[in-house]
Amino acid sequence: MALTALEDFPRHPLTFGPSPVHPLPRLSAHLAAEGGGAQVWAKREDCSSGLAYGGNKTRKLEYLVPEALAQGADTLVSIGGHQSNHTRQVAAVAAHLGLGCVLVQENWVPDWTDPLSTQVGNILLSRVMGAEVRLDPAGFDIGFRDSWRQALEDVERRGGTPYAIPAGASDHRLGGLGFARWAHEVAQQEEELGVFFDTIVVCTVTGSTHAGMIAGFAALEEAGGRPRRVLGIDASATLDKTREQVGRIARSTAELIGVGRDLRDDEITVLEGWAGDVYGVPVQSTLDAIRLTGQLEGVVLDPVYEGKSMAGLIDLVRNGDIPRDSTVLYAHLGGQPALNAYASLFAETDRV
Ligand SMILES: *Cc1c(COP(=O)(O)O)cnc(C)c1O
Repeated sequence: MALTALEDFPRHPLTFGPSPVHPLPRLSAHLAAEGGGAQVWAKREDCSSGLAYGGNKTRKLEYLVPEALAQGADTLVSIGGHQSNHTRQVAAVAAHLGLGCVLVQENWVPDWTDPLSTQVGNILLSRVMGAEVRLDPAGFDIGFRDSWRQALEDVERRGGTPYAIPAGASDHRLGGLGFARWAHEVAQQEEELGVFFDTIVVCTVTGSTHAGMIAGFAALEEAGGRPRRVLGIDASATLDKTREQVGRIARSTAELIGVGRDLRDDEITVLEGWAGDVYGVPVQSTLDAIRLTGQLEGVVLDPVYEGKSMAGLIDLVRNGDIPRDSTVLYAHLGGQPALNAYASLFAETDRV
């Protein structure tokens, strides 16, 4: 397989190995009873690393860390929302490597006013791991920010050498490589398990998770692999920006790993309909998906990302857009610590 170009890039392992893949039989049966029929499986980025609960950013960072170390960086600098899973994973990787860490935490979800948002969950974990956490009032944007430049300058002024990691480790030359490698890992696990996942469902916001998968599966297809659909479910609610970013990163990653052809527009599929009106605020379908998956499978999803992509999968399977003879792989990208900042959503289920 065309792993060669990808293998040219140094990788610093931060996970236990391939992330686990397993079926979700009770969810599949439930959806079949409602008109679906596809077999649903999950691949678990949420339990594949020992670094602060891991998640999809940990896998991306495996390809950024060698560059940071080669540049002699002593401080990782990154940015995200108050409940960013990404910045928590950067804090864990910095601690693991013995580096400093400065995190700009913006108010990405002004409509979610839970006072615990700046105290519990991801931000708590980042503080525990020794990161310098800077609260910033700026709102949601997946682009480059002044506050982040300021953080980089401050590290330099103190005599340090910062390494800049953009939001979600996405808009970075190496940001797509982790999930290009994920595609190869899937192909290998398919061989071991004797299954073929014709459809992949993945949450997309800053874009390099979905984009890396698209590039990785395109490389496999060029090497003779069977074609498949990689469906991104938007959770940004800024669809045009996310779609543009996914396309751009998919194409640059495809070039980097030597896919050897342009990606077709129909390979870049970002679906809307499950994000609600704003990033970070769950809607009814999000909460239904979280409860259903939790109650049928004991698999926990968060209200910002994975609850939304699972809501998409549930609808697509139920209505037959993902056909009855499909075997679909749900990419579980992590994110559970954020649930703590959304506790009030679930309090009403208590029985007194
Ligand atoms: C960051 C994140 C996503 C989105 O991934 P992108 O690469 O930013 O598109 C999805 N789920 C979880 C849990 C995340 O932390």
